[in-house]
Amino acid sequence: MQPEEKKVFLGLAERATLALEELAKDPVIQVETSPPVCPHCGQMNPVVKVRESEAEGPLAEFIIRATCLQCGAEFYALPYQMDCVISATDAAELLNERVKSSGFNGGKG
Ligand SMILES: [Zn+2]
Repeated sequence: MQPEEKKVFLGLAERATLALEELAKDPVIQVETSPPVCPHCGQMNPVVKVRESEAEGPLAEFIIRATCLQCGAEFYALPYQMDCVISATDAAELLNERVKSSGFNGGKG
C-alpha cells in the first residue's frame, strides 16, 4: 500500500469508526443504509472491479476500493453491516436473500 493510499484508508477508517461510535450511543440502533450507487456517474448497483488488497485492519473498518465499470472511475465503498458466515454456500444463500429484498437487482428477482 502506497503512503498516500494508507492515509486515505486510515482517514476513511476513522470516519467509519466515528459513525460506529455514534450508532453505539443510540439505544435504538437504526442503521441507515445507503443504496449502492457510483458517486461519480450515479449508476445504481454498478458492476465493479475490485483488486485484491494486502491491507489489514479490523473487520468493522473494512473498506472496498472499487472501479465502476460503467464510468471507469474509482471509488470507496464502506459497508455498514457485516453478516459473517462460515461457508461460501451460506454466503451465497444470504446474498440471494439480500438481492431479493434489496430491490437493487433491476427487478430480476
Ligand atoms: Zn460510475
